[in-house]
Amino acid sequence: MFNIDRKSLKFKMWTYFIIFAAAIMLLLWLLQIVFINSYYETMKTNEIKRIGNSLVREYGKEGFEDLLYTTSLNEGIVINILDQEGRLVYPLDLIDIIIQPRLDYRLYMEFLVNLSKAENNYVVYTREDPRLENPTLIYGAILENPQGSNYFLYIKSTLQPIDSTVNVLKDQLLMVTAISFVLALILSFIIAGKFTRPIENITEAAKKLAEGNYNIQFEKGYYTEIDNLADTLNFATGELSKTEELRRDLIANVSHDLRTPLTLIKSYGEMIRDISGNDEVKRNSHIKTIIDEADRLTRLVNDLLDLSKIQSGIDKIKLNKFNIRETTERVLERFHYFKNEEGFVFTLNSPKKAMALGDEEKIEQVIYNLISNAVNYSQDEREIVINILDREEEVYFEVIDRGVGIPKEELPNIWDRYYKVDKRAKVGTGIGLSIVKSILVAHKAQFGVESELGKGSKFYFTLRK
Ligand code: ADP
Repeated sequence: MFNIDRKSLKFKMWTYFIIFAAAIMLLLWLLQIVFINSYYETMKTNEIKRIGNSLVREYGKEGFEDLLYTTSLNEGIVINILDQEGRLVYPLDLIDIIIQPRLDYRLYMEFLVNLSKAENNYVVYTREDPRLENPTLIYGAILENPQGSNYFLYIKSTLQPIDSTVNVLKDQLLMVTAISFVLALILSFIIAGKFTRPIENITEAAKKLAEGNYNIQFEKGYYTEIDNLADTLNFATGELSKTEELRRDLIANVSHDLRTPLTLIKSYGEMIRDISGNDEVKRNSHIKTIIDEADRLTRLVNDLLDLSKIQSGIDKIKLNKFNIRETTERVLERFHYFKNEEGFVFTLNSPKKAMALGDEEKIEQVIYNLISNAVNYSQDEREIVINILDREEEVYFEVIDRGVGIPKEELPNIWDRYYKVDKRAKVGTGIGLSIVKSILVAHKAQFGVESELGKGSKFYFTLRK
């Protein structure tokens, strides 16, 4: 039950939260507890330095004594002015004037020694007094008298105890630390829950998908990245189910396409054996059927092979410059049967030279497939027009037929593998256009189709030059 998965998001998140909280707490402890004394001392030192230096600047001006008086009271510090012998010059009470009090000899010597080491005419140092709980901070500076001997400015302040403050802070910090650890724990569980739930949902759905359930919907939740993942997976599922559907169609198509010629080949073979063996005319006609059907089979198998080769990238595109007009003429020669026997009219409009950049063999296949479709899907109107335009940056190619046309809603599908608009159509395997697409995509060419049901179709593509 209490099995902690160290790789789980919950555990990780919790660790990071704890580390984060601990780091903040550590920083606070360092600043508040460890450094507070030295921080306080530095502050105090700077303060006393500032006061002392400003007094030095004011020395000799009018109202100096008043300034000494107010500063001393306002800041809660002792300000003395001493003469060379350590006798008090300020502040003096009435009686003091008679016998000027002196600074304790040892204190005074120490003061002089420190002052003599001063670099900027002043010095700040601390001294420990066994009679006092806290060290005192002492500032000393020379007050220069133009006529007569110099005086000394002597300022004294205690470093107030801050231990009580530190103790209060310690208590508070302990509390804050405890609270933040608990909060980190709770927060990390809540947040990790929020993060993991959609992931768990998606995992569940993916398992169902793996079992072959293509109706699964990946749920979105809480944050963009998961939404994107769900979108991608939903798209992938859509594509998978399409492929699955196509695969099923293909098996139906291919087995149909294979069975028909095979049945024909077998029965015509039997007919030759049993009936027409000696009748040359009949025999030749039967043999022709056998050969035609075998050709059909070969074509089908070749198409399938071509497609998988192109799509798996075994067949690399080899770019060359070639005259696409000549390529087209070569393809058209292969359709002479349809021209001579079936009444097709092929019109090629093209400049003499239309140089394109591409894999000539592959483009020849594209042109062949497009014209072959135009022929296959023509009915009574048997005119097929091929236009080649030599443009500035590219060569444009189109095949126009006046055949059955394609319904608008089917247009995006016809490029899919095995897709046939008329599923029961005897001609075709639904592979031709997917070969066209694969080749043109590999060429990074633009291509497309315009079609109107019953009126005809136009397939086009462009190649770089
Ligand atoms: P097929 O071998 O079935 O012709 P294709 O991939 O070449 O396979 O074409 C896919 C489908 O697109 C065809 O089954 C047909 O329905 C439609 N199609 C392709 N070209 C044409 C065209 N010129 N006129 C009408 N329909 C076409």
